Amino acid sequence: METQKLYYSRPYLRETRATVLDIRKEKDALGLLLNQTIFYPGGGGQPADRGLLAGKELRTVRAEKEEIWHWIPPQEVNPGDEVNLKLNWDWRYYQMQQHTGQHLLSSVLHRHHLPTVSVHLGEEYTLIEVEGAVTDELFPAQVEQEANALIRQALPVRQHWATPQDIDRFPLRRPPGAYEKLRVIEIDQTDYAACGGIHLQNTAEIGLIKALGREKIRGHARLKFAIGDRAYAYFGEIHHLTREIRKLLKIHHSEAIRRIEGLLDDLAEARGQNKKLLAEIIEYQALQLLNRDKNSGMVVYKLGPEEMGRASLLARRIAEKGCCLAFIMAEERFFLAWPQEQIRFNGHLFIKECAQKLGLQGGGGQGFLQGKIAHDDVKIIRRCLQDHLSR
Ligand SMILES: [Zn+2]
Repeated sequence: METQKLYYSRPYLRETRATVLDIRKEKDALGLLLNQTIFYPGGGGQPADRGLLAGKELRTVRAEKEEIWHWIPPQEVNPGDEVNLKLNWDWRYYQMQQHTGQHLLSSVLHRHHLPTVSVHLGEEYTLIEVEGAVTDELFPAQVEQEANALIRQALPVRQHWATPQDIDRFPLRRPPGAYEKLRVIEIDQTDYAACGGIHLQNTAEIGLIKALGREKIRGHARLKFAIGDRAYAYFGEIHHLTREIRKLLKIHHSEAIRRIEGLLDDLAEARGQNKKLLAEIIEYQALQLLNRDKNSGMVVYKLGPEEMGRASLLARRIAEKGCCLAFIMAEERFFLAWPQEQIRFNGHLFIKECAQKLGLQGGGGQGFLQGKIAHDDVKIIRRCLQDHLSR
């Protein structure tokens, strides 16, 4: 039983009634075959329609050969009943806009000897993969300009049906595969493409196209566009961003790049100075601690949590001075360093034997160990270290 495809003959029809020809009952869904439908079952890169059928949210609509089955939540509907069909028009119109915009762009690119290889209609942008060399002169500025000029000309978009016998009437951009009946979409006698999707009736309804960028893929170029409402959304985001930049930097956004470059230079300089100062602080602190502790042969010291960043460097710096073992703690971590040539100390044995007493966990080698420490009693730590010196 064939369903009359109103989505092809009247693509702007948003609501209608239809007679139920057949039903299929499943456990938690009801399938309806109708005498006519406005719901496109999807295909050719365009998703299936959404909307209300018999007052229920349409779950899916699928083509099975010439039959189109609509699935809704279970309810009392029988063959012969008349039901109401209502499209989610915002969704459909958006898809029509994206789809027709892609035809227009492929047409422009084709004129520059860049045939479309594949198309991806993403959530936020459309990707068109083309064969051939895309030059800087052509993309993005020229392609964008030509596409928007064709939008402004408000060119009619027409659909035709063709058979293998009369297909030569249409200079198709790409040769079609096998078919009995082919749908051809024409943009004002300039572009012809075989397509099963739903299109706008006029290029003006595309509204706007913005070329966003390109990348190389599999020896082809992949071009990125924002079409129609998405292009407006893109400009909305850019506007928001420039406004925030103006507020943050207190300058006009045309000055923003220069200002940010200046700030990055300042930051690099400040980081360099910071590094130098940190080295000086570590040197000073190392000398101070050695002065205090060098007679005992070991420095054991706990840094404040804000000094955690220099704990490891401080331990190493003390050990470098050659006379002491350094055990520096911060934030329940420890850093243990010793000059191997001057001091004999078995670090791994120390961790193994004092693990329980100090709550130690850690590892390392070559005169340096680090890890976690649970008990930070300096006297006990000193005793444990003492036991392992010269072993
Ligand atoms: Zn199409």
